[in-house]
Amino acid sequence: MIDIKNVSKWYGSFQVLTDCTTSIQKGEVVVVCGPSGSGKSTLIKTVNALEPIQKGDIVVDGTSITDPKTDLPRLRSRVGMVFQHFELFPHLSVTDNLALAQVKVLGRTKDDAVKRGLKMLDRVGLMAHKDKFPGQLSGGQQQRVAIARALSMDPIVMLFDEPTSALDPEMVGEVLDVMVQLANEGMTMMCVTHEMGFARKVSHRVIFMDKGQIIEDCTKQDFFGKPEERSPRAKEFLSKIL
Ligand code: ADP
Ligand code: MG
Repeated sequence: MIDIKNVSKWYGSFQVLTDCTTSIQKGEVVVVCGPSGSGKSTLIKTVNALEPIQKGDIVVDGTSITDPKTDLPRLRSRVGMVFQHFELFPHLSVTDNLALAQVKVLGRTKDDAVKRGLKMLDRVGLMAHKDKFPGQLSGGQQQRVAIARALSMDPIVMLFDEPTSALDPEMVGEVLDVMVQLANEGMTMMCVTHEMGFARKVSHRVIFMDKGQIIEDCTKQDFFGKPEERSPRAKEFLSKIL
């Protein structure tokens, strides 16, 4: 579903990604972890071409993001993205937040968009809040709306960038529950997260990054179960967060 091939990227003269290669199969859940500043957010943003790359290629469901003929807005509309900060429109109701991109980007009628959006809102357990504004919801609820909004676009893959790290601790669980449910339903997911409970429970693979490089790319069984085979940097990281 996602093929990341020898990707390098620079911000000016600073090399933020160095020769990153990995791929994610349909239905696979991959957790990306690593120290702050290691390039996790940058890597995930390159997947839907929110950040350009200078070397290598990324192919999403058969479409190369570097091919000048690729319709990037169309590709992005198929890739769901959930960030640390929920980025809902504060002046729109939950229902309108859910419908907006479906109407603008996918060309759905408002009725269809609302129907689809509310179905996804129900899936994240927030139907009762459909007429509220984001400011009237808790952080955890806002993040669940953001996930429902992404799902309303019928994504072929979901990208998460630390979706729980801006939340108060008591709200982390409700967002992780939604992600676990998605994973169990077979959604293809690439998740930057330090929630190792989530990684252990539902991920298939763990990627560990350091200084712009993919240092580890292995099954979760190997990542957590065979520490002796891990690189010193991954071991040090694990010892700090586990
Ligand atoms: P992570 O998500 O792992 O914390 P990032 O991908 O956000 O790492 O950042 C990787 C490195 O790139 C950091 O050193 C960061 O300061 C730098 N960086 C991130 N975004 C930019 C940018 N827009 N311009 C210049 N440097 C950036
Ligand atoms: Mg980041």
